[in-house]
Amino acid sequence: MEDTKIITGGEFLVRETDLKNVFIPEELTEEQKMIGQTCTDFLKTEVIPLLDRIDAQEEGLMRSLITKTGEMGLLAISLPEEYGGFGRSFLTSMYASEILGAGHSYSVAYSCHTGIGTLPIMYYGNDSQKAKYIPRLATGELAGAYCLTEPGAGSDANAGTTKATLTADGKYYLLNGQKMWITNGGFADVMTVFAKIDNDRVLSAFIVERTFPGITFNPEEKKMGIKGSSTRQIFFNDCRVPAENLLGKRGEGYRIALNILHMGRIKLGANVIGAAKKAISQSVAYANERKQFNCLISEFGAIKYKLAEQVIRTFATESAVYRASKNIDEAITCYVGKGEDKGRDTMEAFNHFAIEAAVMKVYGSEALDYVVDEAVQIFGGMGYSAEMPADRAYRDSRINRIFEGTNEINRLLVVDAILKRAAKGVLPVMEEGQKAYDEIAGLKEHSDPKEEGYYEQKSRYIRNFKKAALVLIKTVSEKFTRTLVYEQEILNNISDIVMHIYAAESIRLRVQKLEALKGEDNIKIYRDILDVYVYDAASRIRKYAMDAIYSFAFGEIRETLLKGIRHFTCIEGVNVKEARRRIADRLTEENRYCF
Ligand SMILES: Cc1cc2nc3c(=O)[nH]c(=O)nc-3n(C[C@H](O)[C@H](O)[C@H](O)COP(=O)(O)OP(=O)(O)OC[C@H]3O[C@@H](n4cnc5c(N)ncnc54)[C@H](O)[C@@H]3O)c2cc1C
Repeated sequence: MEDTKIITGGEFLVRETDLKNVFIPEELTEEQKMIGQTCTDFLKTEVIPLLDRIDAQEEGLMRSLITKTGEMGLLAISLPEEYGGFGRSFLTSMYASEILGAGHSYSVAYSCHTGIGTLPIMYYGNDSQKAKYIPRLATGELAGAYCLTEPGAGSDANAGTTKATLTADGKYYLLNGQKMWITNGGFADVMTVFAKIDNDRVLSAFIVERTFPGITFNPEEKKMGIKGSSTRQIFFNDCRVPAENLLGKRGEGYRIALNILHMGRIKLGANVIGAAKKAISQSVAYANERKQFNCLISEFGAIKYKLAEQVIRTFATESAVYRASKNIDEAITCYVGKGEDKGRDTMEAFNHFAIEAAVMKVYGSEALDYVVDEAVQIFGGMGYSAEMPADRAYRDSRINRIFEGTNEINRLLVVDAILKRAAKGVLPVMEEGQKAYDEIAGLKEHSDPKEEGYYEQKSRYIRNFKKAALVLIKTVSEKFTRTLVYEQEILNNISDIVMHIYAAESIRLRVQKLEALKGEDNIKIYRDILDVYVYDAASRIRKYAMDAIYSFAFGEIRETLLKGIRHFTCIEGVNVKEARRRIADRLTEENRYCF
């Protein structure tokens, strides 16, 4: 029975994950790889050669690319067959998102269409709404968008003032208000628009067609990056929406909006992997070609450090994203199997993984920012040239920390979701936190070296990182109770710790599984990645924890917590210089991202 147990969201914090419950990208099937190859070919032939024209927003170009993507079947990968899709797993669609994530502005249009543009209708629409829109969204005959943000309602999405009023004959809702920052706004045919009916305090959702009377669009926003992605303000002036286009139930809009964003966040995690691998390949190719002081710059330790660190953070994101994707697929199968409403049950599965989704969004977007920033640096002056690819990668990356919920909001969400699950009794966070706290009293300042295997040791370190997180969560929530929400700096510290735990454990599980598949001799370089990551994570976690402890704990509790954190983050040293050099050398030998 244990074998078939599904992983629940957030469980990683309180339990060890068994290798058999972990998916690693090296296990992708032949069919998934073929879909990936189709995406690669599509990017190479249809998108990359046109990047300048896309960024110049050539009339009709992005829309035609969406149509072509539809013709290739890539808009319909995980949509059900009855609606013209291919019925493949969420994980398969994540793999496609990863590959297409290297497509700059195109990838934003693609993600918007296939994610937030299509899935609200797919998962919350009634049969006739799905039959009417999904097959046409699946082929790209229609393009989709998602309209939540307003001038006064960004992070505080429920503060929107767009109103919907039912006409006296009950046939239409009249929409009045304004949305902004709407991706695909320049060409979307169908939009999920969030508005409040009459004096409701919560949002409802509506399916709005571009041709409905009463809609106007501002010109394209001029943006820092993703310049080819269409972004518009949209105005609704007595816009007539047929009453049957209410999506879901009245007042269900906020739930729809948030659940769709959980899915969007984890997809963003996949996107950034593709973008990062591309930037790394460009970095290594340049470093292998550029000479200074009669030497290729790829031979300098300072450059090797950057290349290796780019790889490590990308590898971490990738390990975490595929681990979570498979868990989500299994949760979807389980919930849909038991429930009566396939769409809502699927979305509930995403909702259960809100913690992992937020982790992936924040960790992945910051990993990509690191990668592209160092790409600019590796290119030196040429990195600052608008003629070189590092320029576009750098500008296009930045948005990922802002949309799909800013990283500040997502960091808060990580801890909030953990506490909610603890309060519901789903995650025994307080119990485990208490156990960790009790353990501190009996700890010796210097413990004897342990006889243990390589993975056993790494697992122990990561278990201890979890204890650090749990003991902090328990003590801060007891200290602040309801006022904890005002302690954002401390919440951020905890959130950062949780992120490093998930990333470190995902790498450990992947490398251990890889070793079981390929043998120790063939995966040594992956052990280097794991060694460096865990070593760095220990000191980062210690720093975040210390920052938190000095911010809220005093006297004996402070001393106890400091003692605990010193112990829980104590690990053996690693020759990170040599490990990073080996990682960089593998990269320079292959002259492309190769992990
Ligand atoms: C290019 C682009 C495309 C977009 N596409 C879409 C789309 O397709 N559909 C859509 O609906 N929206 C879209 N958005 C909107 C996007 O989701 C919002 O910009 C984002 O949610 C942030 O809202 P805001 O811009 O109002 O910033 P604000 O909410 O005003 O935030 C400003 C700063 O304050 C911080 N902050 C806010 N509240 C808190 C808090 N409680 N605690 C701590 N810090 C806080 C934020 O993190 C941020 O750093 C897009 C935005 C851009 C730029």
